[in-house]
Amino acid sequence: MDVKIKFLGAAGTVTGSRFLLEIERQKILIDCGLFQGLKELRLRNWEEFPTDPSTIDMIFLTHAHIDHSGYLPRLVKNGFKGRIICTEPTLDLVKILLADSGKLQEEEDAYALKKGYSKHNKPEPLYSIEEAKKVFPMLEAIRFSEETEVNNRLRITAYNAGHILGAAILKLKIIGDHQEKTIVFSGDLGRHNDPILNPPVNIPFADILFIESTYGNRKSDPSTVENQLETAIRATYSKGGVVIIPSFAVGRTQLVLYHLHRLQQKGKIPQIPIYVDSPMAIDVTHLYKSYNNYHRLGPLLQNGHANPFSHKNLHYYPSQEASISLNAIKGDAIILSASGMATGGRILHHLYNRLPNEKDSVIFVGFQPEGTRGRKLLDGDKYSRMYGLDVEVKATIYYIDGLSAHADQKELLDWAEAYTSKPKMTFIVHGEPDASQNLADLLQDKLGWNTIIPGYLESFVLFSGI
Ligand SMILES: [Zn+2]
Repeated sequence: MDVKIKFLGAAGTVTGSRFLLEIERQKILIDCGLFQGLKELRLRNWEEFPTDPSTIDMIFLTHAHIDHSGYLPRLVKNGFKGRIICTEPTLDLVKILLADSGKLQEEEDAYALKKGYSKHNKPEPLYSIEEAKKVFPMLEAIRFSEETEVNNRLRITAYNAGHILGAAILKLKIIGDHQEKTIVFSGDLGRHNDPILNPPVNIPFADILFIESTYGNRKSDPSTVENQLETAIRATYSKGGVVIIPSFAVGRTQLVLYHLHRLQQKGKIPQIPIYVDSPMAIDVTHLYKSYNNYHRLGPLLQNGHANPFSHKNLHYYPSQEASISLNAIKGDAIILSASGMATGGRILHHLYNRLPNEKDSVIFVGFQPEGTRGRKLLDGDKYSRMYGLDVEVKATIYYIDGLSAHADQKELLDWAEAYTSKPKMTFIVHGEPDASQNLADLLQDKLGWNTIIPGYLESFVLFSGI
């Protein structure tokens, strides 16, 4: 029996995670993500899928982020009919994220139609909300740390990856005619000391390993996050202003809420109201609450600790009217809203309203890529173009470092070091070229591992005649 892999994304870049594993005649897709970021990458979402979707037997998801799950509706639209297997929290998160993604696709399509720049005569979205929802009944949940027999050739186990709620490292056991082999997909790995999520589980053994390398060339220190937040919030409070935090709905919002709650508990920042103004962030925060036992907060709450996701200063504002009403607040408030890069969503009306006010401040809590409004504000632009107008920037702009949900270089290396024997081959994926190369060098030099950095659409035979 032969086993092959083909890299249909997340090779030489961090988005579009999708690896096609062929076990004899079975075709299995590991993750099914959208390409994001640069236009040249996004155009791949529109290309014909490199293998006929109707011939794929099943999909295993490592986690719910759109760059790992967002292509599912398109694949189903184009004929995929198999099983989609993921952990229980991922199943619930995927539904929230895909519905939102369908909405964004419809909005983009409507915008293209209005502006007349669509290439298609009759433009249609990559997928609609309705098409996104067709994925839901195909999702099947597995439990963490329990081996599941998929069929007589294949067993799967999901281990906590600590990256976002439900994120998993996937271990596949392949039963050949003569031998059993183990393949491990790291998925996206989280931090060692995340206050909410448990650290990634160490895996002792893999014949073949696929490891992410997002931060393969970077260090990220989370220990100063609360000090940085405290400084920014106190400075704004002393001027009588409002703090705006553009935040990603999944993971980042919950982490920021945790830190804000702690700062208030310790008396380091004033007891001012905190508003969560994003329907998706609110839905996701409720999921974090209902899956308490999948992260660190469950045991803490049982011991009588206060809940960072429900306390007297915290207010959830799901409706559009409530969101708009926040513009009337003159000071002493913290508002979290999406999107995290200030590229769209409700954050825009907050920025439009707050940027011209020198008392107010905007705190970015995540990396702002080149070309985004967030990056331009951090670079000191004096005006920001919004709703067809140049809005003057008088508010103070802050950036908080250290809130990444990805293992940094040292944490990646520590996780690799926990293998008790060297994998026969390690594929370095999900990284920009420099980051992947840096991690590959470290794994080779420090641990003596064999590594390959695969290219887009490259394929390899993993085992033959097993
Ligand atoms: Zn991710």
